Amino acid sequence: MIVDLHNHTPLCNHAVGEMDDYIEAAIKSGTKQFGFSDHAPMDFDPKYRMAFSDMANYERDVLNAREKYKDKIEILLGYEVDYLPGHMDDRVLYPKGTSCGANSNIDYLIGSVHFIEGWGFDNPEFIGKYEEQDIDEIWQKYFDTIEEMAKSKLFDIVGHLDLIKVFKFMPKGNINEMATNALLAIKNSGMVLELNMSGYRKPVKEAYPSPSLVKQAYELGIPITFASDAHKPEQVSLFENELVQMAREVGYTECAYFKNRKMELVSF
Ligand SMILES: [Zn+2]
Ligand SMILES: [Zn+2]
Repeated sequence: MIVDLHNHTPLCNHAVGEMDDYIEAAIKSGTKQFGFSDHAPMDFDPKYRMAFSDMANYERDVLNAREKYKDKIEILLGYEVDYLPGHMDDRVLYPKGTSCGANSNIDYLIGSVHFIEGWGFDNPEFIGKYEEQDIDEIWQKYFDTIEEMAKSKLFDIVGHLDLIKVFKFMPKGNINEMATNALLAIKNSGMVLELNMSGYRKPVKEAYPSPSLVKQAYELGIPITFASDAHKPEQVSLFENELVQMAREVGYTECAYFKNRKMELVSF
């Protein structure tokens, strides 16, 4: 997979394997731009993410890898950041186009929604909550949060756009209609949509987002990028054929990556 911007490291406490092994797997699959985007620290749900005190080591390790592998692959430095008002921290976030000391090396930020009103809806521990509310309301609240995230203009990439389908609790209503305002906000903010293969490893057994949402994004002219969302080296590029084929079928011929928060497009 030519570009792969979403990959984790053991610093987040729920991924395994050496950075070198992730990179070797990416080189093997022909990746030219490979990004680490580990879960950024936050004072909420801290056990599933790095600590603030890990940031310097994480950034140093990624930059060292960039140097070590520069003849074979370009290594990029990112974070996956939770959009969670009240818990987003200036040490991770700073407005696009500015650079504040510690974060000046960052190539991109992925904005992800993993919580609805504090409920970690993609965590199997809390799966019971799906039965406690109207499923269409849950889905709409989720997409409303994605819309807010896009309007915040804090991020470069939308992480796993329809993660709410992870356990296959599907709504009765039309998903494209539910997602329309979120996609319009994504378009207006200039963000890139990630095609993320981790859904193939989950009960839903398909990519995030579904083909009909990718099509809707294509019609709006929203650029895409590709993501393994690997939490172990074996997951790097694992479903690349399925992901790239979906993008091609919809009509995409280019994908994006970021350097120093500036978007570059390459053909795939
Ligand atoms: Zn995520
Ligand atoms: Zn992730």
